[in-house]
Amino acid sequence: EAVYAQVCRRDPGETEFHQAVGEVLHTLAPALQAHPEYVDALIPERMCEPERQLMFRVPWVDDAGRVQVNRGYRVEFSSALGPYKGGLRFHPSVNLGIVKFLGFEQIFKNALTGLAIGGGKGGSDFDPKGRSDHEVMRFCQAFMTELYRHLGEHTDVPAGDIGVGGREIGYLFGQYKRITNRFEAGVLTGKGLSWGGSQARTEATGYGAVYFAQEMLATRGQDFDGRKVVVSGSGNVAVYAIEKVHALGGTVVACSDSSGYLVDPDGIDLELLKAVKEVRRARLSAYAEARPTARFSDRGSVFEVPCDIALPCATQNELGGQEAGVLVKNGVLAIAEGANMPCTPEAIEVFREAGVLFGPGKAANAGGVATSALEMQQNASRDVWTFEQTETRLATVMRSVHAQCRATAETYAGTPDDYVLGANIAGFLRVAEAMTAQG
Ligand code: GLU
Repeated sequence: EAVYAQVCRRDPGETEFHQAVGEVLHTLAPALQAHPEYVDALIPERMCEPERQLMFRVPWVDDAGRVQVNRGYRVEFSSALGPYKGGLRFHPSVNLGIVKFLGFEQIFKNALTGLAIGGGKGGSDFDPKGRSDHEVMRFCQAFMTELYRHLGEHTDVPAGDIGVGGREIGYLFGQYKRITNRFEAGVLTGKGLSWGGSQARTEATGYGAVYFAQEMLATRGQDFDGRKVVVSGSGNVAVYAIEKVHALGGTVVACSDSSGYLVDPDGIDLELLKAVKEVRRARLSAYAEARPTARFSDRGSVFEVPCDIALPCATQNELGGQEAGVLVKNGVLAIAEGANMPCTPEAIEVFREAGVLFGPGKAANAGGVATSALEMQQNASRDVWTFEQTETRLATVMRSVHAQCRATAETYAGTPDDYVLGANIAGFLRVAEAMTAQG
């Protein structure tokens, strides 16, 4: 409580960061009781304070020849387990509080993967929406012109997040290479397959979230076969979650974007969805125009669509107490977070009271960053793995993350079903041990 109050006092206004910190600190009590040495060494206080916070000016020239100025961020949160690792988000909502919440979550997520990666996050308030390819390129080049001095394969390794996909990673990598005169493949992950990227990285977050949900369902003798599923979002995470659900015999009946949501009772047509969102970069209503079975709504929430399993894969705080109530009323069995912190604390409480399986993002969406670590591994050894090899490793990591959550929850809460507590404590203990050992 005292640490939480101190964080809120020190950084007023950073509401998402306070939320993420509060959610972790409120579950740590049993672990701190078992390890008073971590309290004495101020480990929780130290974890809540980033090792380094960078903010910088990003000036660039738009297609009309006008100068634009954005703000860039990189929060290097924790290097206890390895180089800072975490994505970059380009979205107008990005501010220091958002980057800190994402970076804080990343520490625990990365620890849960069992791989050698620390936690960090970055981004900009740059809005890629409506920008031409050339504008995006010039912005990425300007962003990297400042950020490059802070990066390195052993120092800090960014990847994508909302608004940053393969195209942006390409432009960022090109500029890093130009400035440093090093083909340092391991400095960024999510690269193209022909120049150092890993098979299955694009699919990894969505696939991983579905594997995690599959593991949760299996503890109750259930699976995806014949189930109705709602996926929010329609970006990279959502698309590959949908693909994997369909491969496992489930039907994704709805998805969404910032303009509204789409219901397609026959199951979302993935090729059409990709054509609309990835190729045309259009709104979801274009999908409904092209497919008579589908209905688009610009009002209400995608979580009003009845389903057995819900996978929130859009953005933070998209699923509140009210939506959670509707999901429970409609008989939802499990929720796995593909996005970072999509469920509010009120929603999580509703799921807990109803006894519904709930997989928090730092466990359920760890497949993306885990595969980034596999990409770093391939880069360091100048090796290239097959899709099958990489996906097998991803599935193994997700099974291990799930098992750790349950075992830790059993030990510290007396019930394996408390995935929130299990994920937080398992991640915390690994980082705390490393911090203590390193002085
Ligand atoms: N942005 C992703 C996440 O939230 C991936 C980070 C990475 O691959 O470094 O975990």
